[in-house]
Amino acid sequence: MKQNEYGPIPGSAIFSGISGKKAIIMAANVRIALVAQGIFKAAKDTDSALFMEIARSESDLKGGYTGMTPAAFAEKMQEAAKAVQFDAWALHADHITIKKGDSSEIEQTKQLIDAQIAAGYTSFAIDASHLFNFEGKTVKEELAENIRVTSDLAHYIKNKMNGQDFGLEVEVGEIGRKDGEGLILTKPEEAVGFIKALNESDVYPHVLAIANGSTHGHTYDANGNVIEQLSIDIPRTKEIAQALRENNLKVGIAQHGITGTPRDLINLHFPKGDIIKGNVGTFWQDVVFSTLKVYEPALYKDIQEWTLEKYRSANPGKKDRQIFDGNCKFAIKEFYKEIYSVEKDTEHAIQAMAYAESLIFFKAFSSQGTASLVRKNS
Ligand SMILES: [Zn+2]
Repeated sequence: MKQNEYGPIPGSAIFSGISGKKAIIMAANVRIALVAQGIFKAAKDTDSALFMEIARSESDLKGGYTGMTPAAFAEKMQEAAKAVQFDAWALHADHITIKKGDSSEIEQTKQLIDAQIAAGYTSFAIDASHLFNFEGKTVKEELAENIRVTSDLAHYIKNKMNGQDFGLEVEVGEIGRKDGEGLILTKPEEAVGFIKALNESDVYPHVLAIANGSTHGHTYDANGNVIEQLSIDIPRTKEIAQALRENNLKVGIAQHGITGTPRDLINLHFPKGDIIKGNVGTFWQDVVFSTLKVYEPALYKDIQEWTLEKYRSANPGKKDRQIFDGNCKFAIKEFYKEIYSVEKDTEHAIQAMAYAESLIFFKAFSSQGTASLVRKNS
């Protein structure tokens, strides 16, 4: 038996394996690792390739808000994959976010990347989308800093990966950013200009994250109730994919912020194959918290009280429900020990729910059969 039989494969192997197929590969942000086995098991049973991912805010050298360093996250994902014997998955660094682009931030980012590579990550998302020059006269001027930082870091990763293949995601248009008129959407010419400029500096991303109307996390009504997210602009997404194809740019689209989008709509209306990677994060956190609420009421109450006490003053006028919903992610690190030592039956319920929900995602994403395609290709 190979030592690393169920370890992560390169993200690039997944993207090339599914090339031309009308499917979306789920990328699960696993903030609480208890859901991982259920997701892997469903991927195995439906023959779906999979990304397990975590963003810089969620997991950095100090543990991020999930309490997991890159090494801890990698270990937990490997263990879960091994437990269910699933092999068609990549370990992805979601949102390696750069907000200023100065040399000290780049230096710290490179340290994070070093740790991710040492931990066995096989796919990376550089997110310098915040570096947008609103005074720029042309697309190139607007995106100059994003292009500079993205290509610097992409070359850094390539160098450090030392000949090993890896997946590369880049981002144009900050997801969820608003102006006076609402969400700012990425334009086709921005996507094309961005990828062309990266290609010119010898950077060839597999997948591009765009701002197309989604937001990270939940969407709320005026009373702070969680509601469905129906804001993803499908025509714009198709236009961008079309523009990329017409310019011969071989890059798919990563859909961020899927939580809250009804899965029947995803199934019927998402342009699968244009969108090739679908990020689902907050949803998995909900699976854990909704289970804890019933199975571990004392722990849930502690988490609730801690969160409200800590975040109420910073959110005047908001209902407790929304304050808790929006900030309970910060309790994960605080209650790390308690969360990871819940009763066996709690863990079982979380896994079972994650399994069932994953089946629904894989169906909506048409990802059945992609794991075999990826194996054939690699
Ligand atoms: Zn995202």
